[in-house]
Amino acid sequence: MSLYLDIHKHFRGFKLDVRLDVGNDTLAILGASGSGKSLTLGCVSGIIKPDEGKIILNDKTIFDSKNNINLPPQQRHTGLMFQNYALFPNMTVRENLCISQKSNAAEIDDMLSKFGLERVKDLYPSQISGGQQQRTALARMLLSRPAILMLDEPFSALDSHLRFQMERELLDVFHNFDGTSILVSHNRDEAFRLCERLAIFNNGHIEVEGKKSEVFANPQTRTAAILTGCKNISRAERTGKGKFFATDWGIELQCNKLDDAVKFIGIRMHSITNEIHNENSFECRVAQVIENPFSFTVMLIPKNARENLRPIGWEIEKSLWHKVKNETVNVCLPPESLLLLRD
Ligand code: ADP
Ligand code: MG
Repeated sequence: MSLYLDIHKHFRGFKLDVRLDVGNDTLAILGASGSGKSLTLGCVSGIIKPDEGKIILNDKTIFDSKNNINLPPQQRHTGLMFQNYALFPNMTVRENLCISQKSNAAEIDDMLSKFGLERVKDLYPSQISGGQQQRTALARMLLSRPAILMLDEPFSALDSHLRFQMERELLDVFHNFDGTSILVSHNRDEAFRLCERLAIFNNGHIEVEGKKSEVFANPQTRTAAILTGCKNISRAERTGKGKFFATDWGIELQCNKLDDAVKFIGIRMHSITNEIHNENSFECRVAQVIENPFSFTVMLIPKNARENLRPIGWEIEKSLWHKVKNETVNVCLPPESLLLLRD
């Protein structure tokens, strides 16, 4: 089970250029609004036609511009769930599940029971909760026996408590599905919990793709660092072997890695420590302390900074901050925690 695609499409003011090769995995797509995530899913499902390229789903070519292959959506058997679920408002929950016509009554009843929809099966979408609407959409998608699952920001209509519950249900769905699953998400934690691989979209193309743990550990680009939640990013200028001057923070940092294409340097807020090492330790002025439910975010300005344009955020556990809090603190940006980033 796999998806290969290499597609190109020009719009006025936007160019989509996406290459992707996923196996029997769950892939999360993270990207800013307008970066081409929905267009890409639309090309796979057949509702959008690329200008050029090729799409192969489970070894079957469903689109190939060179050979004039362009299967209509109903022959591609893709499961695509939209943000608003696209349920038929004039049909009951059960009737919505019947439309795929691939399942018999017993299978539909099974699915109703599996998703806890028996009690609401004769109600209309407007009469059921957001979670039940989403379960109906999931059940309908699975009953169509899709060759691939694609979910476009499935949680955006749900409140945070329900989101967590539906997320666990979706984890089961992915787990039990034998094939490629793609989840478009706005939330890096959700993407991390649900998926094995991660693709970072930027302005119509995939900038970074890989195992989620690797992308989080080494995002490679500024956009990927931001989308995986890195809050501290500075421009960087190479000053020596493995040494960079972080322009926005006014400090020089020693890194363990060498990379010529580095334009930015980043560090996650929780990677900063108050255990002092020889390298990258700085005395900092505390510019601001922000209280989170279970931690503090302490904004720091290095005392000997040549020029500081932006404070560095340090996330620290509450009990620890109470022990070390002061007007100035000593912190370390461990070399192994620094993210070297391309533009
Ligand atoms: P997202 O990553 O938020 O899902 P989309 O894939 O929906 O983004 O859209 C990507 C970009 O393509 C957007 O900037 C949008 O303006 C542009 N776009 C989408 N459809 C069309 C169209 N039919 N004509 C011109 N531009 C389009
Ligand atoms: Mg979208």
